[in-house]
Amino acid sequence: MALRVGVVGGGQLARMMIAPAVELGIEIQVLAEEPAMSAALAASAVGDYRDLDTVRAFAQGLDVLTFDHEHVPQEVLRALVADGIRVHPGPDALQYAQDKLLMRGRLAELGLPQPDWAAVTDAGDLRAFLDDHGGRAVVKTPRGGYDGKGVRVVSDPAEVADWLDGGALLVEELVDFTRELAQQIARRPSGELVAYPVVETVQRGGVCAEVIAPAPHGTVRLAEVAEQIGATIAEGLGVTGMLAVELFETTDERLLVNELAMRPHNSGHWSQDGAVTSQFEQHLRAVLDLPLGEPTPRQPWAVMVNILGGPAEGGLEQRWPAALAAHPAVKVHTYGKAPRPGRKVGHVTAAGADLDAVAYEARAAAAFFTD
Ligand code: ADP
Repeated sequence: MALRVGVVGGGQLARMMIAPAVELGIEIQVLAEEPAMSAALAASAVGDYRDLDTVRAFAQGLDVLTFDHEHVPQEVLRALVADGIRVHPGPDALQYAQDKLLMRGRLAELGLPQPDWAAVTDAGDLRAFLDDHGGRAVVKTPRGGYDGKGVRVVSDPAEVADWLDGGALLVEELVDFTRELAQQIARRPSGELVAYPVVETVQRGGVCAEVIAPAPHGTVRLAEVAEQIGATIAEGLGVTGMLAVELFETTDERLLVNELAMRPHNSGHWSQDGAVTSQFEQHLRAVLDLPLGEPTPRQPWAVMVNILGGPAEGGLEQRWPAALAAHPAVKVHTYGKAPRPGRKVGHVTAAGADLDAVAYEARAAAAFFTD
């Protein structure tokens, strides 16, 4: 009988697990928040992932339950595990992707490099941190942030007055980074671990705009340090499935951990067209505890450019003829989402031997889809 994977969350990450599931012969089902979401083309239920009965009913008969986001409450996850359902990543690991304060504390215990940080509960604590760190710092809500929402650079506690009565906040030094990198690791419940090459991620307005794989100008040492950090986190936190570690590279060539995602991640979309095993196939293999695939790049370079927003009028499809004709070697991925300003609605990937040519191809193809 076919293996059955259930994915909580109906976004594009769940959607992009569908193709490799079909290829491998895995049955995939999705619990979507609403009808007509990105992943609704898989057999899908619609329901509230915060409701135990809903998720419990969805999980019946599955070989493993996994996620396209990290928002399923701990109580729900723990009740499912108590029912005997295989949940990967499990609640013990996932808590560190759900709460940035917990993550900072655990990474400190593991001795991993990260920005100076503190938990602050009032304006006085925050003022003291600012005074110790040159008058500016980054304040983050510990839970629920994404794409830069829940992150503010501040020089005065009054700038987060609206957040201060909601419990502890994470404050971090404002890192003077030269660029942002991401390290992906896949880990099986039985322990096997595979590392993708470290990539460079370019953010605009707090949103990932572009990824270059592998990170250009990367020394062997950089790659080794990034991989070691990723492996230490995957093992130390007991992560199963795909892990993405977002990193800052500093002016003095240190790597600092920014944040974690325990699922396929935007920084790994290049792997669909640029690696022997895509992060989506790898996630399925890992959560099912199947042997992992090679993460090796197929070409020296891959560049992934997000399609943010899309055309003001009509769908992305109207742009296909021109884009596909102009860039036949570029791979276009769209998520079945309605274009809205700034919204991630798709991405394109180009791969090849010459980084400049590959980057040009990917950027030019993506430009066809935005106004
Ligand atoms: P989100 O959960 O919204 O993705 P992140 O913690 O990744 O939030 O922060 C979003 C972006 O803000 C990062 O990609 C980085 O560009 C910037 N940022 C976050 N933390 C810091 C920091 N300590 N110093 C400098 N920039 C930061």
